[in-house]
Amino acid sequence: MSIELPYFDYAATTPADARVITAMSECLGIDGIFGNPASSSHAAGARARDKVEQARSQVAALIGAMPDEIIWTSGATESNNLALKGFAEAAAAPFHLVTSAIEHKAILDTAARLESKGVFITYIAPTREGAITPAAVAAALRPNTGMVSLMLVNNELGTLTDIGSMAESVHALGALLHVDAAQALGKVPIDVVALGIDLMSMSAHKVYGPKGIGALYVSRAARSRLCAQMHGGGHEQGLRSGTLATHQIVGMGTACAIAAEQMSSDTHRITALSERFLRGVLSFKGVRQNAREGLRIPHTLSVTVDRPDFFPFMLADDLAVSSTSACNSAAGTPSHVLSAIGLDENVAGRTVRISLGRFTTEQDVDHAIKCFRRVIEPSGPLTVPVQASAA
Ligand SMILES: *Cc1c(COP(=O)(O)O)cnc(C)c1O
Repeated sequence: MSIELPYFDYAATTPADARVITAMSECLGIDGIFGNPASSSHAAGARARDKVEQARSQVAALIGAMPDEIIWTSGATESNNLALKGFAEAAAAPFHLVTSAIEHKAILDTAARLESKGVFITYIAPTREGAITPAAVAAALRPNTGMVSLMLVNNELGTLTDIGSMAESVHALGALLHVDAAQALGKVPIDVVALGIDLMSMSAHKVYGPKGIGALYVSRAARSRLCAQMHGGGHEQGLRSGTLATHQIVGMGTACAIAAEQMSSDTHRITALSERFLRGVLSFKGVRQNAREGLRIPHTLSVTVDRPDFFPFMLADDLAVSSTSACNSAAGTPSHVLSAIGLDENVAGRTVRISLGRFTTEQDVDHAIKCFRRVIEPSGPLTVPVQASAA
């Protein structure tokens, strides 16, 4: 990527992979696959339907699901809404929902809405390292817990939740396990069956697909425990009506197929790059990494600069980093994730998220280190303290 404005905000969104763009562009015009996938009476519809079903299989294959367990939505926000509100509407009796204080707003705002309608909610506090532990989940469960909803990877800290160790205790109560995997898809291997996941939210634009398309994995067993939140036409097994957006769906399917193929090589590269970045910036005075210990992905880093005159926007000028998650930026409020791990507003305000991805280069990383040095150690040494990387 060009060195002029290196992009370090892959956790907010990714550019679409060129192969995704090509596949999508073949699904729009008169010479392409533009038919309505629901038009069963002619070939144009059938061709579109084949494309949609191929994409469904590609998404399913990436997470170890069956194709008919994939429900197309407009993104992870809608998937989260469908999972939580759809379950609440189908629940026969008032129930208890367990989630965490560091979820994405698409969960927290939806949970608040359910709370106002009588659902009782427990928000688990993370450890100082940003982990939601199986012990904390076990302690939060009650006899009437109907659903546990947790993210697989946190969008601000990159911490990974040990979902596999939680499923058994959740299922012992007859409750469903919902996972927001928007930050995990394509970054870590996911097997919904092995992990015991009943419902899982996904988004294409975090995995080099287009914006505006996502999916909810609904296990066959959980299918009858959800009510549709979008009506009209009965698409997607009646769970989500609306004409299927063939080009978007093909984009997501292609992105997932590429992720399946490239995940380990991408992760290998990104691990080396993030280590290079950390070696560089942690050598500067007053720079420390949040959520450093424990389970985490290499792609997303949270760094605090312990200097009262440090403002993240000083970096954002030369570097596309995020002072908090994009969603919080839009709301203009301090990060609820950083405050949940014990950072006060002041410290949170001196924290940046650096997220790396498929197109990050070594030059981008070295440029980022220089930008940090410039704002942190204006009179510091002129050489960038980075060791040559083998990878
Ligand atoms: C980005 C994100 C979402 C929202 O996904 P959209 O597809 O943009 O609606 C939800 N949860 C997490 C953890 C995210 O990172």
